[in-house]
Amino acid sequence: MRRSAILLAFLFLIASFLATCSRSKKPTSDGSLVDGIAVTNGYLIDGTGAEPIPEAVILIKNGYIQAVGTESSLEIPSGADIIDVKGAYILPGLMNTHVHSGYDEDNLKEWAKSGVTTVRDLGNLTTSPEVGFSIRDSLLNDNENSRLVAAGPLVTTVGGYGNYPVTSPDDAEAKVNGLIDAGADLIKIAIEDYLQGRAWPMLSMDEIKRITQTAHNRNRRVAAHISRSKHLYMAIQGGVDDVVHMVIDHLPDSLITFMIEKDMYWVPTLELWWGVSELYHLNWDVIAKDNLQRFAQAGGKVAIGTDYDGYITPFDLGMPMREIRLMQAAGMTPVQILVAGTKHAAHVCNLDNELGTIEAGKIADIIIVSGNPLDDLEALLGVQMVIHNGVVIRDNGED
Ligand SMILES: [Zn+2]
Repeated sequence: MRRSAILLAFLFLIASFLATCSRSKKPTSDGSLVDGIAVTNGYLIDGTGAEPIPEAVILIKNGYIQAVGTESSLEIPSGADIIDVKGAYILPGLMNTHVHSGYDEDNLKEWAKSGVTTVRDLGNLTTSPEVGFSIRDSLLNDNENSRLVAAGPLVTTVGGYGNYPVTSPDDAEAKVNGLIDAGADLIKIAIEDYLQGRAWPMLSMDEIKRITQTAHNRNRRVAAHISRSKHLYMAIQGGVDDVVHMVIDHLPDSLITFMIEKDMYWVPTLELWWGVSELYHLNWDVIAKDNLQRFAQAGGKVAIGTDYDGYITPFDLGMPMREIRLMQAAGMTPVQILVAGTKHAAHVCNLDNELGTIEAGKIADIIIVSGNPLDDLEALLGVQMVIHNGVVIRDNGED
């Protein structure tokens, strides 16, 4: 007995010795590497809109970015697993801030694999809020899924556009509190009086204001569906944080100025308007493009969002390339578009402190692409590696 105990102790020592010496690309069960990861030898596009930094080094540990620098400025810890990206481009994980069908494992895996590491679902129409948020929570446990930020249902008035009616300001306050209690990351409302060939009753201004006040008191943002400039005017007056869908009537310059004054963000969903215009032979895509052009040129803040799956028309699943190409056709520069897909997208997700840029202290959601997306945005289709919550979930170089 005594001899076998000694033998066991000896074997344990050998095993511990081997474990300390051997390096593995696989993270430990808590998702971290003992000594962290060092991403080296790439051009860093950090999501802030700054010029790319050559020979960048990013240190990652326990899911977070520990330090960002260059090969000359930053010492790599001796035990770190080095990922040499050989001159490729390093960016924050992209986001799609207007999707539906986000409560779906296959979709979330497709997004994550493509480099879209966060999506914001703006309207779950198929389950109760409680069921939806519990599905979200279980999907969040799988790191191969894109992070799901969820609004739950679409808040509206009785008979209105949406699926979660309120009857008065007091009822709006109670229901918004109820949604937040159930787990809503944000509140989505509809401000819409005519779409899909029919008229819809709308929330009153008092109801909209009560919804935004209630949400803001609990540190939640409010996104509003709109389609016309008059709805935008109501959204601004009502205290909404971001509007989704570019308006499809002429956007007055005065409203552009008003939005910028209020620091409101726009999620244009040009892919939706492209699809609808193709299907019904409309010019909404042309109007939306012109409006976005003037909004972006005036300095308006834009976040990428497509309305994936929100209508019967085609949508990209994965990297939202059609949206990106349409944004570029609307005069947005590659750097503006990358900021729209990272920093500004994180803002509308209310995750600006955690995500959207590659900076020390933020969650390590990082993608590596072969080509320079500032030269050609098609490079976003050349994803080599995806790091999500500090863990490599896609590595094209791996056997
Ligand atoms: Zn939508």
